[in-house]
Amino acid sequence: MKENKNLKKIRFGTCTKDCYGSCVFTGVWNDKVPKHKLINAHPLKTHPFTNGFFCPKLTQRQNLIYHQDRLKNPLIRNGPKLENNFKPISLNHVISIIAEKIVEIKEKGNLTSILGAFYSGNSGLISKYAPLRFFNKLGATITNGGICNEGGCAGLTRLFGTYSTTNPFQLKNPSTRLIVNWGSNLSESNNHAYYLVKQALKMGTKLVVVDSRRTRIANKAHCFLHIMPSTEHLLVKIVLNELITCNVHDEKFLKNHVDNYSSLFREVINIDKKKLLEQIGIDSQTFQNFVELLIKFKHHTLFNIGYGVQKDYYGGRIVKSIAFIQILLGNIGKPGSGLIYSQSDFLNPLLQPLRRYIAYFSGESKMKEIPIIKLGSSLSSGNYQVLFIYNFNPASSLPNQNLLRSALLKEDLFVVVIDMFLNETTKFADIVIPAKFDLESFDLISPYYMPGLSINIGGPCPYEDCVSNYEFFQQLAWKLGFENSVIFQESEKTIFKNCIKMLPLEIQNHLHQEGYYLLFNNDDVPFNTLEFPTPNNRIQIIGTQLKFGESELKRKINLKKNEFVLISPSHLHFLHSQLWQLNSKYVNEFSKIYLSSKDIKRLNLEIGHEVLVSNEYGSETYILAESPILKHKTTLIYHGLSSSLKGSPNVNFFIPDKPEELGFSGSYNSAIVKIKKIES
Ligand code: SF4
Repeated sequence: MKENKNLKKIRFGTCTKDCYGSCVFTGVWNDKVPKHKLINAHPLKTHPFTNGFFCPKLTQRQNLIYHQDRLKNPLIRNGPKLENNFKPISLNHVISIIAEKIVEIKEKGNLTSILGAFYSGNSGLISKYAPLRFFNKLGATITNGGICNEGGCAGLTRLFGTYSTTNPFQLKNPSTRLIVNWGSNLSESNNHAYYLVKQALKMGTKLVVVDSRRTRIANKAHCFLHIMPSTEHLLVKIVLNELITCNVHDEKFLKNHVDNYSSLFREVINIDKKKLLEQIGIDSQTFQNFVELLIKFKHHTLFNIGYGVQKDYYGGRIVKSIAFIQILLGNIGKPGSGLIYSQSDFLNPLLQPLRRYIAYFSGESKMKEIPIIKLGSSLSSGNYQVLFIYNFNPASSLPNQNLLRSALLKEDLFVVVIDMFLNETTKFADIVIPAKFDLESFDLISPYYMPGLSINIGGPCPYEDCVSNYEFFQQLAWKLGFENSVIFQESEKTIFKNCIKMLPLEIQNHLHQEGYYLLFNNDDVPFNTLEFPTPNNRIQIIGTQLKFGESELKRKINLKKNEFVLISPSHLHFLHSQLWQLNSKYVNEFSKIYLSSKDIKRLNLEIGHEVLVSNEYGSETYILAESPILKHKTTLIYHGLSSSLKGSPNVNFFIPDKPEELGFSGSYNSAIVKIKKIES
């Protein structure tokens, strides 16, 4: 932390939003003023990925921190659930109430009925893992797994032994001549990578976009494949067939580095290309253009894969199948080639010991675990009496909302939510604890699209009763009589400092001086030795690869007249974070369901009609709107508002809670819905 001559303090911070950018900045603070202590924030100009600019989603972070609706006091329910109806209570009093509940449960010997449900929040390691010291001490239950990219990670790991094989700096590598952007809406959700793609295009790099939506980046593409959702592996089949037929596969690479690759050849040798093109929904000329570009730029092609494609029951296998194109062409481990996916596995060897220390101090886990995606059905079992929710807004972001919400309403379930704002989940809370913003806490941030680490040096919080996740559980532990336990004596700042000390000296110095550390320089090419962390260091192809999900696909191909495949992406001005919605002028767009103009005509509907959207999981009224970016037979609802701003419907009422099969994350793009006009 530096101090300038006006006695203002400069602290490093990382953007609070759960976003690809993870922008690192210097915050200017005035600790002496009573309220608006963070004055402004400046993105680091030296950062090679974020390049000194924030996105418009969160340029005014100081307004969010001191927003008038931010929670400043603990709250206790003062009316029926389903409403944010609370009265204030002191922190000391509310902790006593919760502690009494826990003592009662302990006396009955049923501590596993205490459940901690959490996800990544802002990707802070301490905010996520330090509360586990409390749950582990009790021998309680916690959630595991995730709702994001875990399916794709599991799929790639089966091939490479890791899901992080290429870093995003390859986007600006001069050797990259072709970028294939597959299912990633860079122009709206990853503006720093989009900037790098635009720079590459200026240098003459070609761009292919494969997506079920005509996103803005598709308009810049030299070839756009507008495919039906969940048909990625069918496209891979015909691409592989074509590459093998043209004899352009990299035989030497395959022989030297890929186990059992000939099984892939066998799988794609006899295919009905015409039928597959029809199912995928593209014409043969577009397909041919794609293949020609792949052949022309062999060894200079980079794939960037989005997370939407793996939000399917078979999402892991879908991502794995996309990787086969790069493997077959030998586009791995060379400058300007490879597969960009989640970066966090590059950092895992460094972070594992830190996580263990943060979560357990020493020793091992004594906790029972349940999958986060099945939270609704787990709570329905009646096995849980106290539920703590932090870093997470499940009543907005989990699937099968009807099941989840009825479980959250169970009379014998006592719900404690730690958050900064009232939101959909707090409507089910008995008690709400006002959380500190991450910029008011000490933490290490591990981004998912940047192979690196950054820090938050916590500034002061103006509100006395606001606590970080760890501070809350530490105080609760003290109340339960664990004050002499060494694991609850460390302050959050001490945990932070100890974590930094556990890192190699070079990283420590970078974090202190720059606020971040990146594992790679611009020119570094990961896995250029082509030795992967698999048992024999070779890429593993085991068993059948491209034959899966046939009955689900058949169902999607044979939709009835008023049935549609539902996709639920993020809105341009909204990130799926538990943080409050800033752009309230877009709230109405969450009450709309979008169809192509062709489908609106086909159903004899008009824009603005009220329609009933339904499937076996739920039904809800929406306003019909047109979208020129959608494919025939596909419909779109933006995924849920995080705030309780308006009683807006939530697309997750239609989403099955069946997990993705490899990574047990969500299959958010697997739903089919019916659309019917509501007669006035
Ligand atoms: S929302 Fe994302 S891109 Fe925008 S400032 Fe935050 S991290 Fe950066």
